[in-house]
Amino acid sequence: MTRLFAPGERALLLDSKGRRYLITLAEGASFHSHAGFFAHDDLIGCQEGTTVRTGSGARYLAVRPTLPDFVLKMPRGAQVIYPKDLGQILLLADIFPGARVVEAGVGSGALSMTMLRAGAQVSGYEIRADFAERARSNVESFLGAEALSRYSVRAADIYDGIEETDLDRVVLDLPEPWQVVPHAAGAMRPGAIFLAYLPTINQTATLRETLAEHPFVLAETLEVLLRTWHVEGRSVRPDHRMVAHTGFLTHARYIGPV
Ligand code: SAH
Repeated sequence: MTRLFAPGERALLLDSKGRRYLITLAEGASFHSHAGFFAHDDLIGCQEGTTVRTGSGARYLAVRPTLPDFVLKMPRGAQVIYPKDLGQILLLADIFPGARVVEAGVGSGALSMTMLRAGAQVSGYEIRADFAERARSNVESFLGAEALSRYSVRAADIYDGIEETDLDRVVLDLPEPWQVVPHAAGAMRPGAIFLAYLPTINQTATLRETLAEHPFVLAETLEVLLRTWHVEGRSVRPDHRMVAHTGFLTHARYIGPV
């Protein structure tokens, strides 16, 4: 069903050079750039794919932002996990509707939004209260109030312990996940999945050693390399630039007290 752009919702604008702008539509407001401006009212009531023009003739194509579009443009304090890794995390951690997940640190909420969108029930731990608040507002802004009913973030240090029990998944993006391993072992159900994202291999090695000292099996570490292509006429080749490194993903299964 075609839903027309309405006030209060977001639109992603693309200019002729491929630059992207995320706006929130409001009646009476206007979008300004170096190439002039247009009124939001020109877009409200139109369908996705509409092109609007500024007075000086610049054109902007408008579509609704996808989750990756939003993650890359939303307000953030901490670094977010990039979409290439978010997608892989969903499947490695096998996130499913209703899964009981503990996540730490929550940061700006990019990973939270991805898991909530897949239907999980997420309890977050974030030491910075201001980040916890921003994550909640990003979640509500992109996913709406229903997602907030499956999401809580406590301003707490997860190295001190995990209050939840019988967890299906523990998913971590913080500097010393090995400090969480003993707490995770006490909070997960047998068969549950532990996953951590880490920027360096030294940290990853320490995590793997700690996992090996606890009842975890099937541990695996990997990285996601994504290469986009330039496709234009007869010039069809990989792009010259790529993001060569973001982080390492390590996942393992908890098999219960031994
Ligand atoms: N995955 C998030 C980004 C997390 S950045 C996203 O995709 O948006 C790492 C976060 O971990 C930071 O916000 C930091 O404040 C938080 N953090 C660091 N140590 C922590 C701890 N011991 N307990 C809880 N949060 C912690």
